Amino acid sequence: MSTVNTIIVGGGIAGLYCAWRLRQLNIAFILLEAKPTLGGRIQSKVVANNATLSVDLGPTWFWPHQKKMQKLLKELDVDWFEQYTRGDVLYQLRENQAVTRTSGSDVMLSYRITGGTQKLITALSKKAGSENIKTTHPVTDIEHDQGQWTLSIDSSGSSPVFKSQRLIMAVPPRIASHLLTSKNIVCTQLTTLLDKQQTWMSGQAKFVAVYEQPFWRQQGLAGQAFSQIGPMVEIHDASATRDQGFALFGFIGLPYSVRLQLTKQQLELACVEQLAALFGEQAAKPTRVYLTDWAKDKWVATAQDIAEPPKHAELNLSRYQQQLKQLKLYFVASEYAQVEAGYLEGALTAVEAALNDISRDTMP
Ligand SMILES: Cc1cc2nc3c(=O)[nH]c(=O)nc-3n(C[C@H](O)[C@H](O)[C@H](O)COP(=O)(O)OP(=O)(O)OC[C@H]3O[C@@H](n4cnc5c(N)ncnc54)[C@H](O)[C@@H]3O)c2cc1C
Repeated sequence: MSTVNTIIVGGGIAGLYCAWRLRQLNIAFILLEAKPTLGGRIQSKVVANNATLSVDLGPTWFWPHQKKMQKLLKELDVDWFEQYTRGDVLYQLRENQAVTRTSGSDVMLSYRITGGTQKLITALSKKAGSENIKTTHPVTDIEHDQGQWTLSIDSSGSSPVFKSQRLIMAVPPRIASHLLTSKNIVCTQLTTLLDKQQTWMSGQAKFVAVYEQPFWRQQGLAGQAFSQIGPMVEIHDASATRDQGFALFGFIGLPYSVRLQLTKQQLELACVEQLAALFGEQAAKPTRVYLTDWAKDKWVATAQDIAEPPKHAELNLSRYQQQLKQLKLYFVASEYAQVEAGYLEGALTAVEAALNDISRDTMP
């Protein structure tokens, strides 16, 4: 049994950022993460034959108005660069109809982290301190009794339990609700509200194709394309900065029920064929391809998330503040943010709001 001041459940950006800030405040914590790796929805893969190219299968972008991300990256000494958008955009509107080309891509300026979004996770976990982070620790049961939280990792009871005075749930609302419901720890109105909030992008699948050369750029194309045919509905340049490796990525628009009927190889092949139809024969020969279907990740997507069309969470917990304060229970994943909910920026916003509450609650 381990007893500590604060337990954080979840090792995505929210959990790790929170962990680092608690460490700076000298508040002892343990972070419990279900998976063997940290990052949650953040997933970058270093391309085997090109270590300077890292492809993002989870989040790719942040935007100029998102100041917390920029401040954090500067603090962590992590670089970023502008998304490549120079050149024309392609549209695939109907089967058997020629691809349309429109001059100049008209997209909002966006930024990408040099070396992949995972760089942020690596930097944050170093700052948080590996001795306080336990991966492969899926929380299965949560109890609250006489001011103490007890978290079990294994329903068989054979693993150690973790006890704390304070609990920080750095998991999306539906996952939090599931964990808090069984022992009626919070009121039903609150769990019902949490259950209504979708985990942003959790039902999505993303495909990346790596190439030796940026042949689309050489043809005056931005690498950006929109399609009503699919399987990908939106495609972008996913190359590394300073010409250190080239790639295209796309969001797959097929519903999960349709994706389930295809093997991974069939879906990858259909994506490569679509890239060739859009960008020409050179696109038919990627050196590597990657596909992540987030709907298959039980630590991210619930059955409800997969069944619904994409929708941002809108969550205001202010009327439950008294109940949560008494329990010393805090929610910090991106979906709890009052602004930018669902985005990386939202995760930072939610953490900072919870840390303000914690500082207030610990004042004499
Ligand atoms: C395909 C895709 C593209 C995206 N694109 C962008 C983008 O371009 N820009 C942007 O800003 N955002 C984007 N997002 C959203 C962004 O990824 C999220 O806002 C952010 O990663 C959320 O971080 P989080 O820490 O709040 O939650 P999560 O990353 O979901 O972390 C929660 C963690 O809790 C763990 N966990 C779950 N259950 C348990 C349990 N029982 N016990 C212990 N641990 C548990 C999970 O394994 C996970 O590590 C995208 C997301 C996806 C999937």
